[in-house]
Amino acid sequence: MAIRPIRITGDPVLHTVAKEVTVFDQDLRDLVQDMYETMDEAPGVGLAAPQVGVNLRIFVYDWDAEDGSAQRGVVINPTLEISEIPEGEPDWESEAEGCLSVPGERFPIKRANRALVRGVDLDQNPVEIAAEGWFARIFQHEFDHLNGTLYVDRLVEPHKTDSQKVIEERGWGQPGLFWTPGEERLEG
Ligand code: ZN
Repeated sequence: MAIRPIRITGDPVLHTVAKEVTVFDQDLRDLVQDMYETMDEAPGVGLAAPQVGVNLRIFVYDWDAEDGSAQRGVVINPTLEISEIPEGEPDWESEAEGCLSVPGERFPIKRANRALVRGVDLDQNPVEIAAEGWFARIFQHEFDHLNGTLYVDRLVEPHKTDSQKVIEERGWGQPGLFWTPGEERLEG
């Protein structure tokens, strides 16, 4: 098992609609195991397969809920239903989101307060998770990854322009860039 490099915005796999998983084999188990390890090392609360360069509809998540319960799992071929996304200005204090594919940055974004995710697990058993608050936000963020959408694509102004500036300043937004959790980050 291994930690896999995380692709940075600009890599085509992050901006492509991922494919349904049709083969449930040992390779898939290895991939999901690596995704858990990579998410944990990053660390992150969620990771989608395209972020490790795999064009498949899979994400893992790990979230300690407000009620103290630990939520951790994988969803394969998910669907997502959400409540209405609230109107108004996104709040820096409570709605600033980050992404391992836009590493080290955060911008505020409105999300629905409730989400219902359905899919299957590694044994093709049905999975259904109802989430609220930040947990629901994680599912919206990860589901977007499977459709080639990053949270920065959804930002409103001025955050959209600010994020584009940061991405340009850091030399991102082009194919082939990645970072590997646990290794020293190269500046440049
Ligand atoms: Zn992300």
